[in-house]
Amino acid sequence: MPTNAAILSSLNSQVLPRWVKLEKDIKAMGWTVVYTSGYRTWVEQAALRAQLGKGAALPGYSSHNYGIATDFNLYNPKTGQWLKKATPKATWEATGIPKLIRASGFRWGGDFNGNYDPVHIDLINEFPIDQLRALALQTFGDKVDQIKANLLNLLGNGAGGPSGATILIGLLVVGIIIKNL
Ligand SMILES: [Zn+2]
Repeated sequence: MPTNAAILSSLNSQVLPRWVKLEKDIKAMGWTVVYTSGYRTWVEQAALRAQLGKGAALPGYSSHNYGIATDFNLYNPKTGQWLKKATPKATWEATGIPKLIRASGFRWGGDFNGNYDPVHIDLINEFPIDQLRALALQTFGDKVDQIKANLLNLLGNGAGGPSGATILIGLLVVGIIIKNL
């Protein structure tokens, strides 16, 4: 199992502070986060799909493929209690942590319809999968082994500077202006 540090460092660095903050808040509630999965490459996703069939998303269609999702278990060092995938929703809810997860802007897998996955959180509410997929293909091309979608610029003109798409549109606009001078 990769360490917490290895999993966190695989996430998109632009959203990493969201995880750092959430983990701090969870810790303040007496729980230890043990990450089990973070960024999954599109090649790894294709292998997972081949293994699990429809139990796994196609490459590019999982929030894990963009470094904006983690899976995790929770451990309470005081009581020795673990919260895992098979733990009932009511038990998770009783800790108050799902409420915190939602209030922090994450989507909680315990809320999924028909595919209960309480160990999963992601930021798909803020970064829709179709937009991420289009941006990844535009940035890296369609050769699956060359797509490093955890490096995508998710924040446009924010901390990460302009995205490839923004630059391209900018160049087009400049081109049109020059052409019309
Ligand atoms: Zn997951």
